[in-house]
Amino acid sequence: MRKKIVAGNWKMNLTMQEGAALVAGIVDGLPVLSDNKHVVIASPFVHITQTAKQLEGKEYIYTGAQNCYQESAGAYTGEVSASMLKSAGVAYVILGHSERRQYFGETSEQLAARVHLVLNNGMKVIFCCGEPLEIRDAGTENAWVETQLREGLFHLPASQMEHVVIAYEPIWAIGTGRTASTEQAQQMHAHIRAVMADVYGADVAATVPILYGGSCKPSNAAELFACADVDGGLIGGAALKAEDFLGIVQAMVDA
Ligand code: PEP
Repeated sequence: MRKKIVAGNWKMNLTMQEGAALVAGIVDGLPVLSDNKHVVIASPFVHITQTAKQLEGKEYIYTGAQNCYQESAGAYTGEVSASMLKSAGVAYVILGHSERRQYFGETSEQLAARVHLVLNNGMKVIFCCGEPLEIRDAGTENAWVETQLREGLFHLPASQMEHVVIAYEPIWAIGTGRTASTEQAQQMHAHIRAVMADVYGADVAATVPILYGGSCKPSNAAELFACADVDGGLIGGAALKAEDFLGIVQAMVDA
C-alpha cells in the first residue's frame, strides 16, 4: 500500500516567530496519522532547526526543505548542502519546484545530481513536475511532464524509488486559485504512473506516491484525493494557516 502524504511548502514566507506559532497550531490540531499517512512541513532554511525541534518525537510528521545544492560542500556562497539538511533533522527535500526552475534557472541535469545527493544522505525526495499554460493549451502536457521525469528523476535505479515522491504541479494552477479538475489531475497522475511502469515495472510504479499541487485547499482537497492515482498534496498558500492546512490533512486521512 503506498503512502498518502500532505506536504506544506511555505516558500519565502513567515518570520521565525510566525513559523513557530504555525507549527504549534498544526501539531495541536493534527489528526491521528500512521505509517501510511504522513505530513511534511517544508519551511525555509533558517526555520528548519526550529521546525525539527518542534516536531521532535512526533510520529509521522516530518521536517522538509524546499531545495538543496548539487555539490556536497565547498565554495558555493549562499547554498545549502544535503548533508547539512540531514544533520538539521530534515526527512524530505522538495526538488525541481517550478519556481526554482523558472526564477533560478534550475536544469534537469542539476536536479538529477541533487536527487542523488538527497537520497545518498538518507532523506526522501519530493520531485516536482508540471507544465506551463501554453503547453497545456497546445495539448502537449503529457510529453512535457514525461521529459521532466525522464531527465531529472528516472536515472535512479529501481531500488531507490521507494524513497521518492512525485508532485505534479501544473504551473497554471500554482498560486492562481485555478485548480486542475479532478479529471485533469487523475489523467496526468495516471500518465506519470504509466511512464514509471514503463521504466521500472508496474510493481515499483504502484508504490510511488504522486501528490497533486496547485491551489489545493480544504474545499477541494477531498475530491482531488479521492482520485485513484492522487496520493495527497503539495500545498503552498493553504499551508500558511494551521486551520486550512489541517483541513487538507484531514481530507488525506479520510481519503
Ligand atoms: C506550490 O507552490 O507548491 C503550490 C502548490 O502552491 P499553491 O498551493 O499556493 O498553489
